[in-house]
Amino acid sequence: MASRDFDLFVIGAGSGGVRAARIAARHGARVAICEESRYGGTCVIRGCVPKKLLVYGASVRDAFEDARGFGWDAHLPTHDWAALIAAKDREIDRLEGIYRKLLGDAGVTSFAGRGRLIDRHTVEVDGRRHGADTILVATGAWPVVPPIPGREHAITSNEALDLEALPRRVVIVGGGFIAVEFAGIFATLGAETTLLVRGEQLLRGFDDDARVEMAREMTARGITIHTRTLPTAIEGDERGFTVRTAVGQEIAADKVMFATGRKPNTTGIGLVEAGVKLAPSGAIEVDEWSRSAVDNIYAVGDVTDRLNLTPVAIAEAHAFADTLYGGRPRHITRRNVPSAVFGQPPLASVGLTEAEARATHGAVDIYRTRFRAMKHTLSGREERTMMKLVVDRASDRVLGAHMVGADAPEIIQGIAIAVTAGATKSDFDRTIGIHPTAAEEFVTMRDKVPEAQKAAAE
Ligand code: NDP
Repeated sequence: MASRDFDLFVIGAGSGGVRAARIAARHGARVAICEESRYGGTCVIRGCVPKKLLVYGASVRDAFEDARGFGWDAHLPTHDWAALIAAKDREIDRLEGIYRKLLGDAGVTSFAGRGRLIDRHTVEVDGRRHGADTILVATGAWPVVPPIPGREHAITSNEALDLEALPRRVVIVGGGFIAVEFAGIFATLGAETTLLVRGEQLLRGFDDDARVEMAREMTARGITIHTRTLPTAIEGDERGFTVRTAVGQEIAADKVMFATGRKPNTTGIGLVEAGVKLAPSGAIEVDEWSRSAVDNIYAVGDVTDRLNLTPVAIAEAHAFADTLYGGRPRHITRRNVPSAVFGQPPLASVGLTEAEARATHGAVDIYRTRFRAMKHTLSGREERTMMKLVVDRASDRVLGAHMVGADAPEIIQGIAIAVTAGATKSDFDRTIGIHPTAAEEFVTMRDKVPEAQKAAAE
């Protein structure tokens, strides 16, 4: 066992690891962190941030298309994919620099290389061993590609963010966050885009009305969605691929992308040997304090496969550091965590879906509106915005809010404060709207969806 040079050794400098290291150091702990790749982890380097920059890039197309309705003599110019990727890369470099600086300024010692546990108090990085009282594993997760023939031809979101050129035809396998977001990026920038979804509908886990609305809008934008469809093989070469499906389709593509979920990064780093217990999914099993089966080894973020969202990992990490080093024991709640799918248009939601609310609360009232945003009365765009509130009939509390439409993530973030605070439908009703906005619809919905209509629609 190496001497205990550090109070805390963090493995992985992603969102969770960096937050934990910085806060622990600020509380006075001697902290080290190691990273085998780039500082910033999935979110900054190959996830949320670069993806959102590409989403912005794609959205500009709408502005050009909408412009004529407002008197602009606008024509759709050509798009330079390589220029967008280069601009994105510059921003990611800048952010990585900020992450490194924040750690340095906080007094955290950084080691470059893959961290591996030698025992419960020793981490080896690049052949050197470091002792620590506490170890935090924040190694994140990595895309999973199902074992079908030809899978080696496929890319994942990792490579999709760095393609040299926009593919002419893209097939995306999966119907979750990443599949929907990248379908929006590729299709809006001009690629012929096909989604292969194994279930009945995309975005499992979200409210059914929002899922239907999202699929409708994506289809309206020219994205082909095949539900109940599994790929069985990918054939061809870089000049062109054919994706075969279980129902006998042959779909031509220049790129095939898998967005079929992610697996925690827990292999080959000495976890099991040190006594850490893993779930069948490979995730580190932790208690509410993020403590593993070994009482000085903790884990936060996607490696624990609890709620795989950056702000949740950051909150877990901050709570961990406050608990161990700040004299302020606390853990986080995962109720009413808002989330968004940055598709075209985006979908955002907080709280319970209608189905979850009916299952847990029994009688619920549903308020729903679907309208054409004012902007599109002139732009001519047919896109519809959908908003929905799920209300507990007994207490009048708003249990869930769901939206598909422009600015949904920005709007739902505000609604999430009200839902977290326990706002009732009457609180929503007595809130004055900001006119004219789409958001004001959330405080002006007065008519419940009639139960009969609801039943008929099911
Ligand atoms: P998701 O779990 O969201 O979606 C995976 C999709 O792939 C589902 O549609 C799933 O179908 C399907 N699938 C799984 N296995 C197979 C298979 N063998 N063959 C065919 N289809 C399959 O994962 P993502 O990869 O999209 O994203 C990973 C996680 O990253 C998300 O869950 C989210 O937590 C996070 N994330 C968050 C974002 C945000 O906040 N905006 C953006 C991107 C990622 P089924 O539904 O039937 O299981």
